Amino acid sequence: MDHGARSRFKSVCVFCGSSAGKRDCYKDAALDLGQELVARKLDLVYGGGSVGLMGLVSKQVYNGGGHVLGIIPKTLMCKEITGETVGEVKAVANMHQRKAEMARHSDCFIALPGGYGTLEELLEVITWAQLGIHDKPVGLLNVDGFYNSLLTFIDKAVDDGFIKAVQRHIVVSAATAKELVQKLEDYVPMHDGVVSKARWEDEQLELNATLHSELAR
Ligand code: AMP
Repeated sequence: MDHGARSRFKSVCVFCGSSAGKRDCYKDAALDLGQELVARKLDLVYGGGSVGLMGLVSKQVYNGGGHVLGIIPKTLMCKEITGETVGEVKAVANMHQRKAEMARHSDCFIALPGGYGTLEELLEVITWAQLGIHDKPVGLLNVDGFYNSLLTFIDKAVDDGFIKAVQRHIVVSAATAKELVQKLEDYVPMHDGVVSKARWEDEQLELNATLHSELAR
């Protein structure tokens, strides 16, 4: 796609390390992804911290003129934990609501390298796609083979009958931001889930009502 052309996405949710990693390739990839989002005029939705790769990607998008939405639980909202956050910040009641809100505000998901938090967020949106709760593309930015072991695990789980072969395609991966965003643009979802989107949206409305009353407390 020509970068001047319209993207089918408006917002991209990025999961990534609250650490920057020990090798420069991870920082470079975060900056490169931020640059790619700016070039394609895509907004960023993320976990709302300025630490590690989260800080690099958010500042890159913000400084490039893109809209940045950080979604952060009230308990993490202190500078010692998250640093100075750029762009719009939305406070939520807890980690569960954060994930639901990050998903609600975005059209696709990208995981940069990261640790437990990144993996947990990534696996949740993959699971939701598998169940048919959403049909938004999910991509791994496989920087210097960082996610090779996860991809090997997924292939093993398919071979051994724990993931349906038809659902292997849910996880898209590429070594560079440019290639990955293009693959996500081209992604065609398959509808093999067991939960209808309408039912999921009803559940989200209920969850939001409960959590808003928790936030107000
Ligand atoms: P991790 O990969 O364990 O560093 O966790 C990163 C993910 O968890 C991010 O995508 C955030 O949504 C969340 N997270 C972890 N630590 C923080 C933090 N200090 N501030 C904000 N979000 C965080």
